[in-house]
Amino acid sequence: MNDLPTPSRVAAAIEALARLFGDRLLTSRPAREQHGSGESWLPATMPDAVVMAQTTEEVAAVLRICSQHSVPVIPFGAGSSIEGQIHAPHGGISLDLSAMNRILSVAADDMDCTVQCGVTRQQLNEDLRATGLFFPVDLGAYATLGGMAATRASGTTTVRYGSMRELVLGLTVVLPDGQTIRTGGRARKSSAGYDLTHLFIGSEGTLGVITELTLRLFGQPAARQSLMCSFPDLEAATQTVVAALQCGLGLNRIELADALQMTAINRYSKTDLPESPTLWVEVTGSDVAVPHDLGLFEDLARDGGAIRIERAEDTDAANRIWRIRHDALSPPAR
Ligand SMILES: Cc1cc2nc3c(=O)[nH]c(=O)nc-3n(C[C@H](O)[C@H](O)[C@H](O)COP(=O)(O)OP(=O)(O)OC[C@H]3O[C@@H](n4cnc5c(N)ncnc54)[C@H](O)[C@@H]3O)c2cc1C
Repeated sequence: MNDLPTPSRVAAAIEALARLFGDRLLTSRPAREQHGSGESWLPATMPDAVVMAQTTEEVAAVLRICSQHSVPVIPFGAGSSIEGQIHAPHGGISLDLSAMNRILSVAADDMDCTVQCGVTRQQLNEDLRATGLFFPVDLGAYATLGGMAATRASGTTTVRYGSMRELVLGLTVVLPDGQTIRTGGRARKSSAGYDLTHLFIGSEGTLGVITELTLRLFGQPAARQSLMCSFPDLEAATQTVVAALQCGLGLNRIELADALQMTAINRYSKTDLPESPTLWVEVTGSDVAVPHDLGLFEDLARDGGAIRIERAEDTDAANRIWRIRHDALSPPAR
């Protein structure tokens, strides 16, 4: 890279940002360290400063100033990404979007909502509770919806609902020069124009900063039941899943951990589970369909050679077995 930010350019950008943001521009070492480390195992690499933005216009101002001074900008949601995405190897400005946390509209009849990028999936689902709707991407981390779109996140329910790629209908994005664009819309069947929305999903902040998202919502299923089953090998586990998908069972969540992961899970969660490939399965649907589909899944698992099947008899038991899966990486920080 031959256009690394020079100390004088960084200083000029920080001076211009300080005029606009006052005490929402942070240069203390703890703030910079926190914004340059995230959940990654890689050593922290700090930005030169952190800006706490509150509006799309402020994001545009930051990008305009930094582009004028050729200083890198690294958008920051909740900092939960695990592959070093928020690190600042060349310094620059960490653009903290966590204060952009307003739910702008919920259209219950149309089953969609528009939110600012710093809304977390937990906050959105809490807010939706009374409507009977929910947003399904469930990744076991405390993450913002902007960060989830930027990393094209998926989760345990992807088998049923898809990942962020399938669930984002439209975006407001600020481009690197400070220009603001809107992509997509609310219509489900529109094929008009370039599909810019999907260009930004998964671009990890390199093409622009997402400031607003329009998302699809779903109705809460009437019933749900979970089980966990262990298999002698990966082939048996995956063949069982293929058979279940081909039977059209109401599978809501499926997760697989291999033998090595199960050893780590036993050590971390103090469990005594077989250290062999294990599936977590949740079935959702009507009160009649769920026990039927879960029973069918158990039959398929037994036919596939399952060595242990644990059916969760109530919500507490289901939460316990899914907690074990979510803790396989590490428990959510907040
Ligand atoms: C315990 C745990 C479990 C996880 N499980 C899963 C899983 O099952 N499936 C999965 O897919 N992922 C999983 N992840 C990773 C997860 O997808 C990401 O951590 C999350 O999506 C990032 O959201 P964030 O708000 O923390 O973004 P950050 O970590 O702050 O940022 C992530 C990236 O997106 C960019 N970015 C952030 N906000 C914006 C924005 N508004 N506009 C443009 N760019 C932006 C950042 O610059 C960075 O490149 C897990 C992480 C943890 C810690």
